[in-house]
Amino acid sequence: MSYSSKGRKVRRRRKSVNVRNLVILIGGAVVAIVLLVLLISGAVRLISKGLGALSGLGDGSSGGSSTVSSDAESSEEPVEPEYTWTTVQLAEADERQGELILVNSSHEYRSEPEDLLIFYGNKTSSYGLKEAEMYAKSPVVTAMNNMMDAFRAATGNGSVLLTSAYRDVSYQQQLYDADLASSGLATSDSVSKPGCSEHHTGYALDLSYQSTSGNNYLDGTGDFAWLVGNCYKYGFIVRYTEEKSSITGIISEPWHYRYVGTVHAEAITKGGYCLEEYIEMLKLHDSTNPYEFTSESGSSYLIYYTAGAGASTDVPVISGKSYTISGTNEGGFVTVVELGGQNTGSGLLSSSASSEGESGTSSSESSDGSSETSSLSNSTESVSG
Ligand SMILES: [Zn+2]
Repeated sequence: MSYSSKGRKVRRRRKSVNVRNLVILIGGAVVAIVLLVLLISGAVRLISKGLGALSGLGDGSSGGSSTVSSDAESSEEPVEPEYTWTTVQLAEADERQGELILVNSSHEYRSEPEDLLIFYGNKTSSYGLKEAEMYAKSPVVTAMNNMMDAFRAATGNGSVLLTSAYRDVSYQQQLYDADLASSGLATSDSVSKPGCSEHHTGYALDLSYQSTSGNNYLDGTGDFAWLVGNCYKYGFIVRYTEEKSSITGIISEPWHYRYVGTVHAEAITKGGYCLEEYIEMLKLHDSTNPYEFTSESGSSYLIYYTAGAGASTDVPVISGKSYTISGTNEGGFVTVVELGGQNTGSGLLSSSASSEGESGTSSSESSDGSSETSSLSNSTESVSG
């Protein structure tokens, strides 16, 4: 019994020894595998470092060695210049001023545009006016003159009639009420709510053309396709297209041109945005992460958004670089900094565009005797007709 019990004991001991051995074996195997993995990964790392160094020496284009190569070959690569930033202080009211202001059914225009210029006596002879008393912001009058001169030169068509420009809120109310009366609907998708029309800003123009059947709004076809394709060069966008009507809330209006300035007009057109989308996109780009845009003339720009900070907002700008800042009418500012391009200064803009931005140039042009006389006679004709 005792033997057998001893034997059992021994057997038991042997069993427990076996289990311990198994544990040690497994543990050893795990440690060995871990060591092996560490060894292999170390070797791989060493090898890849060696290869990276080799490719860095070779072409300098591999991702891993790009920092090394850009340090070593900085003289060959265009280096981002270090800009000195400063700030411009803007008031809350400035958020509602400028060529990029967004006005739609959810962003009412709550200012009165300053420096409105009357078209009559300030326009060229390439187009007519529906009424004598038509006004827009002065850069818009200049841009319209340049665009219509180029349009007439390109197509020989002088039938365009400016049908609507700046409108005050009470006039918009009349138009709105008339549209509801004729449609029998509760709201309008063709006439903006009073306060919500771009025409309040002085940056929007409606164009029609004279024909034997009377005045028709531009449809963007025939000769007028030229305007659709070229308007951005003069700072205009076709504001309401069929494609974007679900975003703008306005049906296709190929006659409604909105001035946003040449840089924004080109960026919006080339990017395939509507104004709402463009501002939303820019809101993802502050001055630390600006939207970079190169125009077809080769000039490059940084465009960025600064959220309004209440009574006073510090908008960053780059020292020594020319810039424009516009409010967005939705709570912020958009800055365009011109970095320059292959050419320098204003000479790189087309001659039609170069006189556009500066009111000084426009007033000297419009006071030119011959152009004024011809525009006056043309205006008088259009107004009476
Ligand atoms: Zn309009």
